[in-house]
Amino acid sequence: MFTMTSTILRNLLKEPATRRYPASVRPSFEAARGEIRNDIHVCTFCGVCAVKCPSQCITVDRKAADWSYDPSACVQCGVCAEVCTSGSLQQARDYRKPVRKKELVVLKGATTPPKHSDPPVTG
Ligand code: SF4
Ligand code: SF4
Repeated sequence: MFTMTSTILRNLLKEPATRRYPASVRPSFEAARGEIRNDIHVCTFCGVCAVKCPSQCITVDRKAADWSYDPSACVQCGVCAEVCTSGSLQQARDYRKPVRKKELVVLKGATTPPKHSDPPVTG
């Protein structure tokens, strides 16, 4: 009886073993593979990330200058960031906040990239 009472008291007084995530977030580990972020102003819409993504969760529309990805399908392998030709795609160390609804991340470039058939810019 005494052992049980002391165990209950100890458990009531000690720090909880879990965090109240997302209100309390632990700092990420140095090698953590977190959320994928794209600096859309640097992206050239080459489409390499979409081709290499093993989950096929990236879509690139070069004509419309659209880059989108489905975070719920992403396995955070980091391949897209490794192969990104412009360096616009980065893998952060922190994780995406939990969401109630699945949503695509859709990023729109400021300008439509030049077509290959466009004459070269001179001068
Ligand atoms: S981290 Fe991996 S799964 Fe996620 S978008 Fe990039 S290549 Fe695809
Ligand atoms: S590989 Fe990089 S530059 Fe090419 S479409 Fe993907 S994010 Fe943009």
